[in-house]
Amino acid sequence: MGERWPCPESGQALALFDHAEERVWRYLDRCAFHTFLHAPVPRVECPQHGKL
Ligand SMILES: [Zn+2]
Repeated sequence: MGERWPCPESGQALALFDHAEERVWRYLDRCAFHTFLHAPVPRVECPQHGKL
């Protein structure tokens, strides 16, 4: 615990709510290879903007 993330709307530092499903960004095919970027998306709960 103790992780803090800025609200995407206001930039206010907020306690981490949770992580959304891991998102996978698929990049354009390069030759025969597929490139993927994996990253958990942090979510925060903002008093003004709700869960983001
Ligand atoms: Zn906010």
